[in-house]
Amino acid sequence: MLNQLTISELTAKIAKREVSAREATQACLDRVAKVDGQIHAFISHNDADALAQADAVDKLVEQGDIANRPLLGVPIGIKDVLAVKDHPLNCGSKILGNFVSPYDATVIEKLKAAGAIIFGRLNMDEFAMGSSTENSAFGITRNPWDTTRIPGGSSGGSAAAVAADEVIATLGTDTGGSIRQPAALCGCVGMKPTYGRVSRYGLVAFASSLDQVGPFSKDVRDNATLLNVISGYDKRDSTSVNQPVPDYTKALDGNIKGLRIGLPKEYMIGGLDPEVKAAVDAAVKQLQSLGATVEEISLPHTDYAAATYYIIAPAEASANLARFDGIRYCARVDGADPIELYSKTRGAGFGPEVKRRIILGTYVLSSGYYDAYYLRAQKVRTLIRQDFLKAFEKVDAIITPTTPTAAFKIGEKSDDPLQMYLSDVFTISCNLAGICGVSLPCGFTKSPKLPIGLQLLGKPFGEEVMLKIAHAYEQSTGWHKERAVIGA
Ligand code: GLN
Repeated sequence: MLNQLTISELTAKIAKREVSAREATQACLDRVAKVDGQIHAFISHNDADALAQADAVDKLVEQGDIANRPLLGVPIGIKDVLAVKDHPLNCGSKILGNFVSPYDATVIEKLKAAGAIIFGRLNMDEFAMGSSTENSAFGITRNPWDTTRIPGGSSGGSAAAVAADEVIATLGTDTGGSIRQPAALCGCVGMKPTYGRVSRYGLVAFASSLDQVGPFSKDVRDNATLLNVISGYDKRDSTSVNQPVPDYTKALDGNIKGLRIGLPKEYMIGGLDPEVKAAVDAAVKQLQSLGATVEEISLPHTDYAAATYYIIAPAEASANLARFDGIRYCARVDGADPIELYSKTRGAGFGPEVKRRIILGTYVLSSGYYDAYYLRAQKVRTLIRQDFLKAFEKVDAIITPTTPTAAFKIGEKSDDPLQMYLSDVFTISCNLAGICGVSLPCGFTKSPKLPIGLQLLGKPFGEEVMLKIAHAYEQSTGWHKERAVIGA
């Protein structure tokens, strides 16, 4: 089945004209028709549009115009927070109404130029706030490994679509773990690049100093291929960094002899599920047997990461979301005067979690509380970054569990925001520090069988070494080959 292939396998077949982009796209559309009723990874998809893009790619193949197209004919799903010209853009929210993007995000331009088929809108927590995709205004997404469980969030649709083989790969965004956490819970590979590696132009901002776009894929090689395509400086995003983009697939040679990996003692805490701990312990042994050295390190400010994040992220969100006012766009609810119009539009359009964050964010930025909360959080953020930079003087990468537990049940944490916030304790620091991180499968719980994620963290712009280690581990274990049984 073409929808089950990796990017490397599919592009090789298309380049050799063994299959067409249309056939690959049709295989994904058929799969979506068959299983998405059970998963609901997609908010929407436009079959005619996807097939028209595929035909255009097949024309390129016919004309022999296939050089520099590493995603030739590959259907790629897009999180509903990235602008795709002429596609709907809702950010998992009601507030944008019938909004259609007038332009492409930089990452979408790059995918298109690389030959990808831009396939559908993937479900997410509203404005990327959440860890379970239960905060979407478009209904919940279910985990392909067990449809009574959440897929993680906020990029739950992006992870579930890959895990259910509905598309070959997807893009998501990660502000505090929203790529790595759902990748872990759905058993795929998901990466948050270093802050500034990938342009945010055309990404609807949640917390601008933390947000990064990144890939979900079935294996590490595909992840590296996607990073090659989406990385790079963009003059339209002043926070993108002007650093050369290496070929990340070149680093994947399996040789990790002599690399030093740090195991932070603060991460092996109580609350960590014993099966998750056992899987990470086994991964450590595996990496040692491949010739890496693993040593204990300390990241002393880890305990403050969640508190710091839940001040900084809502503060930035409260400012970013001010633009959704019913004047310039949005599903407007009229009022007698502008103030009433704003409050009615925002009151009706935003869901409870988004409102909670806006209220929290406005509070921590208000005069009198700014110094006590926001400014202090910024200082702690610097300490957290320094912890990592210090650790990276000794080690090449850091290994941790991605999440404290495997996927939880739908509804289990939705009434307790604090419990929900704690499901990202291991992923949040990476965003605060601006470094890179990847999650990849490292085993399964016994009963029910649910994926467990291993997180590797790398230095700023250290994606090559991080992916090299991830790839060596993956190839020597083969966990990524296990697929969710759905729609069989
Ligand atoms: N779960 C975290 C939050 O709710 C992270 C979300 C994200 O990375 N977008 O804010």
